[in-house]
Amino acid sequence: MEPTPSGPTDPSVPGVVEGSALLALRDTEARFRALVETAVEGIVTIDSAGVIESVNLAMERMFGYSAVEMVGRNISMLMPPPHRAAHDGYLERYLQTGVAKIIGVGREVVGMRKDGTEFPMDLSVGEVRLAGGRFFTGILRDVTKRKEAEQKLEQLARVLREKNRELETIVYVASHDLRSPLVNIQGFSRELHRAVGMIRGLLEDVEVDPTAAKREIGAILRGDVGESLEYILAGVRKMDSLLSGFLRFSRLGRAALRVEALDMNGLVKGLIAAMDYQLTEAGVEVWVENLPSCMGDATQTGQVFTNLLDNAVKYRAVGRSCRIRVCGEVCGREVVYRVEDNGMGVATEHHGKIFEVFYRLDPGVTPGEGLGLSIAQRILERQNGRIWLESEVGVGSTFLVALPGITPGA
Ligand code: ADP
Repeated sequence: MEPTPSGPTDPSVPGVVEGSALLALRDTEARFRALVETAVEGIVTIDSAGVIESVNLAMERMFGYSAVEMVGRNISMLMPPPHRAAHDGYLERYLQTGVAKIIGVGREVVGMRKDGTEFPMDLSVGEVRLAGGRFFTGILRDVTKRKEAEQKLEQLARVLREKNRELETIVYVASHDLRSPLVNIQGFSRELHRAVGMIRGLLEDVEVDPTAAKREIGAILRGDVGESLEYILAGVRKMDSLLSGFLRFSRLGRAALRVEALDMNGLVKGLIAAMDYQLTEAGVEVWVENLPSCMGDATQTGQVFTNLLDNAVKYRAVGRSCRIRVCGEVCGREVVYRVEDNGMGVATEHHGKIFEVFYRLDPGVTPGEGLGLSIAQRILERQNGRIWLESEVGVGSTFLVALPGITPGA
């Protein structure tokens, strides 16, 4: 048999073997380079002194520097202070002690772009030891979007926790506060039933003298019956006001908002004019300073301020004339309004609680359902606003309301 002639692909010829191995190696290297270059993650290699040796395209996109601007400089250029200054120390410590904080582990760190903005990133670092020395490969992923989603989720969870607490309060009130008038109604209905039985007995008893029966029935009607009916009606009124409170509260979340530029001078003046009778009757002096405008829903913001003015009158101190001052100032992007009174004040431990549904400091002394401030808080939250309190018992209270300032073009 004729020997097979050697050709360019003949592996039995040493030169050909080397040539094809080189081709394969080049091909592998080209593939590997393309893989690194087109990777979505940023890939960087640094030497043991922290100097950048190579970066891929994603690194340029992520940090806003070109490869030329990065290669040859210390990796700490991509970190904000204090990590920037500390990085050399980290690397040195690892090289001396072999104890790794990030190498081989990976963690979330903060990166800094060329324009100085910072962003969260996941970083994993691997170490490579070659004859030429050791170097490190970092794989970086911008996790801004994931962090934003996490924060949004955390915020939603917080809102959900608050709503859950609110719901628990409502259930508590429904089972407790609604129950006490109900118990009264039940008790006095039984009394009424007993009184009616007595009256029927007197009417049906032929042996009782009609004049004496009439006198006794009159006494029962004026006494037990009258009293029972009064308590029953008071219980019904209380249940009615609590139930309409529930209704008002539940409607609030569904009411449509019409946010516009609000002339607060006109709005507050209008509210005070509508309260004229009540203010004059209680001998209240009101000062309204020049109020900056803000963005809000006129009707609902009006409801907040009516409630605050109403409370300032309702919870005035005994023994001194009631004075109310309304003022406001622009604070950055917000306008902060103050409704100040010299009333009975609220102790510090109740400052947060009075914004809870149905929470009242003195139930029974002044009329109310403990809903006004929780409704005010809900209204303001829906308009990206806030409400809080500064107060001292016996001195007075200041309710602060923050609403977004006027946006250009509004
Ligand atoms: P309501 O007035 O119907 O009780 P609010 O929610 O408006 O309901 O107020 C809750 C509680 O906060 C009140 O019961 C009162 O104890 C306290 N409060 C509100 N405003 C003032 C104020 N200006 N001064 C003192 N206490 C106040």
